[in-house]
Amino acid sequence: MPQAAHAQTAVPTVDCFIGGRWAPAADGRYFDDRNPEDDALYARAAHGAAVDVDRAVRAAQQAFDGYRHTLAREREAWLIKAAERLEAEAQAFIDILIDEVGSPLAKARFEVAMAVGYLRAAAGAARRTSGQTLPSDVPGRLSLSLRQPLGVVAAITPFNVPLIKSIKLTAVPLATGNAVVLLPSEEAPMLAARVARLYHEAGLPPGVVNLVTGFGHEIGDALTGHPLVRLVNFTGSSRVGKHIAAIAGAQMKRVTLELGGKNPLVVLADADLDAAVHGAVMGMFLYQGQVCMASSRILVERPLYAAFLERFQAAAEALPMGDLRRPETVIGPLISPRQRERVRAHIEDALGKGATLVTGGGWNGHRCQPTVLAGVRPEMTCYAEETFGPVAAVYPVDGFEQALAQANDSRYGLSAAIYTRDLDRALAFAAQAHAGMVHVNAPTLHDEPHVPFGGVGDSGFGREGTEVDIDTCTEWKWVTIQTGGTA
Ligand code: NAD
Repeated sequence: MPQAAHAQTAVPTVDCFIGGRWAPAADGRYFDDRNPEDDALYARAAHGAAVDVDRAVRAAQQAFDGYRHTLAREREAWLIKAAERLEAEAQAFIDILIDEVGSPLAKARFEVAMAVGYLRAAAGAARRTSGQTLPSDVPGRLSLSLRQPLGVVAAITPFNVPLIKSIKLTAVPLATGNAVVLLPSEEAPMLAARVARLYHEAGLPPGVVNLVTGFGHEIGDALTGHPLVRLVNFTGSSRVGKHIAAIAGAQMKRVTLELGGKNPLVVLADADLDAAVHGAVMGMFLYQGQVCMASSRILVERPLYAAFLERFQAAAEALPMGDLRRPETVIGPLISPRQRERVRAHIEDALGKGATLVTGGGWNGHRCQPTVLAGVRPEMTCYAEETFGPVAAVYPVDGFEQALAQANDSRYGLSAAIYTRDLDRALAFAAQAHAGMVHVNAPTLHDEPHVPFGGVGDSGFGREGTEVDIDTCTEWKWVTIQTGGTA
């Protein structure tokens, strides 16, 4: 039976999965995969090179030639089986999410539940990959639109929600008859290998799902620029997203880019304060703020500002930072030395330039305390840049118009939230917010399988979600048949 990882030594190894076989990188190198809690060695993963990417893409293309002719009911069954296996093996995935990327238990369970949902929704997409019969201007002409799969789809995932994204970026491509090559974050190769194994054991034919582990900055271009890759599904930073967009543009290749965020949460004076504080705390601090939808800019109408800040501070200080395997823990370790340094630098920069530390700013090991800043100004790095850690800036605003203007003062545009009892102003905010997603009286952080998920501006290009994915993953073809009758 193919193994994603085997414990021949004390430290497990993760290999590439190409053409239905587990294999080391061509040159046999491995890299260290560390547990962010203490940076102890967790696994060693194949250090893939461009030659491995090429092998994986060619294996995917070869498999595609047969897979494209499989029946919708077969693809539906494989994806349902994958969902069932994921539910049955949930604990194994949860353990990896805790030990490989520092997920608190609740966040790990959330990822599993979401991923099961994406698989089920994608299974349903197999039978909905349909075209139309169209009226024709020519007598006797039967006019049809057909959907055809694209071919090889590259799925490139970030470290923070590696299960959600490994499934979300592959499930509908597979449902619609495409083959995939998965390049996971170098911080989460074990999790990706487990996903590849899941698909394999669910019965998907060899070569339809391939995995190359390694460093995106070394081998990403070999994948996104490969002539056989027809679609790049990317989730990650805006910097890398723009780089991929340039490659895809030059090659007339499809791309979806789900990128960073600097998401505003607006609290108007008539808001339900309890709900707003709860939404801000969960939206900001889940998974220690390493979430693209984190509410890192909180704009509170002045009459409620002091009360909100006091309650928000107290709630932030009460967030449990203990054992990741306890269900109440919210704050875990930041993923890597580089990311910890970034968070530290953002806090120091803000404080050095005159921001007020409302709470936090300290560290327990690799965990940054939930940090709340006031008095953040545009010249401070964290005003505009994504921190990707547990650091929130709270601003007083004078009225709806100022709240809207400041909410829109960002080159990002992923998610936005507003808390108010005034439906007219809520809808005006929803209409005018520079964001791909707006939530009223609910946190910025939310997703469901079938919705058009994504952002505008530096937050991305294109959308994810079952229906839009069917469009993204298929090519329309218009076919006409001239009949002798009145068809
Ligand atoms: P990252 O951009 O550093 O890496 C993401 C992936 O890109 C990794 O797999 C990496 O190996 C790969 N990569 C790096 N260089 C590449 C290249 N030249 N070509 C192809 N791939 C390359 O991001 P990260 O630190 O892993 O994740 C955090 C970022 O992801 C944040 O900005 C966060 O907001 C964003 N994110 C967005 C969403 C969303 O849905 N909008 C969801 C989760 C995370």
